Formats: sequence, C-alpha cells, structure tokens
Amino acid sequence: MQKSNVVARVLDGNRLECHVISSKGQKLTLSGLTTDVEPQVDAGELGSNRLLVNNAWAFAKAKFDAVNLPDQEQQKHATARAKKHRKLAEWIADVAEDVTDEKKLAWCSACFGQHDHSRVNKSITQLNTYVCQGCGSPGSPCMGPVCKNMAVRVPGAVQMKPYCPNIAMKSSVLKRPTAKWAPSTTTKSS
Ligand SMILES: [Zn+2]
Ligand SMILES: [Zn+2]
Repeated sequence: MQKSNVVARVLDGNRLECHVISSKGQKLTLSGLTTDVEPQVDAGELGSNRLLVNNAWAFAKAKFDAVNLPDQEQQKHATARAKKHRKLAEWIADVAEDVTDEKKLAWCSACFGQHDHSRVNKSITQLNTYVCQGCGSPGSPCMGPVCKNMAVRVPGAVQMKPYCPNIAMKSSVLKRPTAKWAPSTTTKSS
C-alpha cells in the first residue's frame, strides 16, 4: 500500500508551506508564517482533521527550526521533533481518509469529549479503528471490561491492547461498570 506523504518548504525566508498527500491522492495544504501557531488550511476532507493539521504544521515548523536554530544541539532536537510529527501526520492521513459511514458515539481519550467516531474502512492495523469527529484522533474501543470509551491509537503499537486512561488509572473499574471521565462527573471521596 502506498503511504501518505507530508512535505514542507520555506517560502520567502519566513513563510512555510506544508503539503499532505494521502495514499488515495487527497490533498491538504497548510501555509503561514514560521511563527504562526495555527496555519491557514485549504478546504478539503483532510483539513477537517485537527490532529492531522496540528501534526503536519508542527512538522513544518520543526523542519524550519532544524536549520534555523542557533546551535547544533537545538537543531538536533528539532530534527527529531520533525521526524516524529511527520510520522504521525502520515499515519493519521492514512487512517483518516478511509472512513466508512458507520459511526459510534463514545468518549475520546485524546480530546476527552464525547463524539461520533467514524469506523476506518480498511484494517490498517489488526484492531478495529475509529476516527474521532471532534479532534481527528484515531482510536480503538477500549479493551477494559464493559468499558465503552475509545482508547487512543498510536502508530506501530499493533501488539498493544488499547486501554483508555479511565481503565489505566482505576484498578477498581470492575466495580464501576459505568465509570466515565465525563467532565461533569466530579468524583467525591465519601
Ligand atoms: Zn477526540
Ligand atoms: Zn476504557
């Protein structure tokens, strides 16, 4: 399978342009000043994925830093950062462009909101994968017993069973089958 591609370049010394080309040919272009926290996003399916936009933009900025920061040590860190963000952006583009109409309402472990999650068509990973409509994060149903939350998926962790933070933090979850981290549920110790 052809993988998505993310490239960035500098224009006029202080502007960045970042292109995401998905494996199916969908395009996303981000542009802005090297100092911009958020880029301008051109319209398109992929542009609605916040996590993809954030990572692609972080990649472009880190790539710029890697040649423009004053000392070598900082440049090295920026190079590593660029690599990480690029890998994530490419992976999200791979996953996010191929969703089905099937949706599942669940709590997302990435944005901590309750959102529809679109099921990913192909099995990029062995696990059922969904994309959060709120933040764009890929997730898989939490493996915790009776838990209905989505656990965050990360690339390359195929063998890892996904658990949401709720399960990871509370060993007593078996006694609390409906435990959620909904913002409104403040836990009282009584
Ligand atoms: Zn989310
Ligand atoms: Zn869970």
